[in-house]
Amino acid sequence: MTPPPSILDGFAQTANEDVKGCIFAIRGDSMASGHDEQITVFLKGCFLSCVWCEDPESQSARPEILFDAVRCTGCGVCESLCPVNAINMKGEKAATDRNICTGCGECVEDCPAQARTVAGMYVRATRVAREINRRFAPGRGRGGTVVLSGGEPFYQPAFSANILRLCKKSGFKTVVETCGHAPWETMGESLRFTDRIIYDLKHMDPDEHERLTGVPNGRILENLIRLWHDERHLPVSIRMAVIPGCNDSDKNMEAVGDFVVRELDPLAEIHLLPYRGGRDGKMARLERITAFPPVEVPTERHMEHLKTLLEARGVKKVILPGSNRD
Ligand code: SF4
Ligand code: SF4
Repeated sequence: MTPPPSILDGFAQTANEDVKGCIFAIRGDSMASGHDEQITVFLKGCFLSCVWCEDPESQSARPEILFDAVRCTGCGVCESLCPVNAINMKGEKAATDRNICTGCGECVEDCPAQARTVAGMYVRATRVAREINRRFAPGRGRGGTVVLSGGEPFYQPAFSANILRLCKKSGFKTVVETCGHAPWETMGESLRFTDRIIYDLKHMDPDEHERLTGVPNGRILENLIRLWHDERHLPVSIRMAVIPGCNDSDKNMEAVGDFVVRELDPLAEIHLLPYRGGRDGKMARLERITAFPPVEVPTERHMEHLKTLLEARGVKKVILPGSNRD
């Protein structure tokens, strides 16, 4: 019998720890010890552009200006500093032409109102690894967990692979959060250094998926099936953010349940996460206009209802925030 394709098939095993990538945050979560127990690196760049995205500054793979129009006094200092003339005063406020702005940050420091910040910076994988090592308490190397999130880590596959490689070298556990839309062949190098995958599902209907995220869901579902049945048996947790009015219909939830039971395993773990909001303020700071109406936060009762629907389709492990398994 022909063995199933493996994530190890056909991938270069070369290291390039000097590879640079773009990140927008490194955050630590500390437990009772007061030291970081888990560090998350947020990479910029995503294949999707979900209409509800809570971190729209993560979608572009390059640094971007965040602008606070309320703080801006209209002094014009930034306009005179921009080397590419991306800023023009519109009335009493600065307006940045996002097609011209390079995200260089020259306009940030001298803004007297602190109305400008840059989301994102280019760094080497080695520098990210150094920062992770610095933030974990001395001697905690073997207990800490490093999560690559985004954006989409596989949008910058060589950068992600080298961060993960360095983290494994330091003895950390590694987790990758992915939307799964990357070409399969770009994921393999990273997966060699990954202990666990958190895999996002958005919508089961390909047309709705495309309307809401910008891409159909075919590759995402294919990659999930392939990953699930890969001979390396990496632990995969499925995660679904519940977005009222977008993906929280009974029909969609039942389709998720049917897919998981049919293609994966009834024992697959599905985490249902309530949408937290926060999109609109960030879109405003990116000076982006969305025609999509504001998204509500789901009620606890609705979350329980969706859990029940999944369980009725045969899914055995549906986890809500606050339950013992979350
Ligand atoms: S420097 Fe700051 S306060 Fe002055 S116009 Fe630019 S953004 Fe507004
Ligand atoms: S980040 Fe650089 S290119 Fe963009 S507006 Fe500021 S100075 Fe101009």
